[in-house]
Amino acid sequence: MSELNLILIGPPGAGKGTQADRLRDDFRLPFISTGEMLRANVKDGTELGLQAKRHMDSGGLVPDELIVAMVADRLHQGDAQDGFILDGFPRTTGQADALARQLRDQGRRITAALLIDVPDAEVVRRISGRRVCVKAGHNYHVDFDPPKTEGICDQDGSRLIQRDDDRPDVVQNRLDTYHAKTAPLIDYYDEQGLLRRIDGTRSPAEVHDHIRAVIATLRLEDDV
Ligand code: AMP
Repeated sequence: MSELNLILIGPPGAGKGTQADRLRDDFRLPFISTGEMLRANVKDGTELGLQAKRHMDSGGLVPDELIVAMVADRLHQGDAQDGFILDGFPRTTGQADALARQLRDQGRRITAALLIDVPDAEVVRRISGRRVCVKAGHNYHVDFDPPKTEGICDQDGSRLIQRDDDRPDVVQNRLDTYHAKTAPLIDYYDEQGLLRRIDGTRSPAEVHDHIRAVIATLRLEDDV
């Protein structure tokens, strides 16, 4: 075992995107977000994007076969051979089984699944104020993490918008989907001894510190 293959699990609004920005800077691991990949496909008008959009807009999940193929391609790329951090995948036990099979075929396995845990009420509060930049998807929050100039991205000067699926009616559907389809992964990975829990209600800096500490421990345990 000489690589760090990590999964991030958590409800929408748990802060995975915020942590992604930080972890990208900390570790030389590709950060693979299926939500970001799908949004890029929608923006580019690809066949996959066209098929995915109606599921995304309603707060449901894109069918497993589409997602599994997309992730399989991504994990075969050169930069993912020494480890990766997956955000937003797997989201069903079917996807988790497919991922385990794919990795096993390559003689690899998941190192750990990090659960960033946040209660529903907090999710709704966070998501209603969330804004992203149109250019690169940098994240802000109108109350907790406002940009220096209202409506403008600090990092690239592009416009800030609310994601279509962050609208209040869609958020409840996304939460329902999370509890029905994705939360079973908590037991799935716990039973395999792979689950690490992180309190996502803490500040972004504290969550970041905790994740780094968990990763440092995993590196020691696995000597990676
Ligand atoms: P996210 O940015 O991770 O919240 O993803 C946004 C939307 O993309 C989700 O609400 C789903 O519709 C879709 N999506 C992202 N990842 C997956 C996945 N692993 N399986 C199915 N749908 C997904």
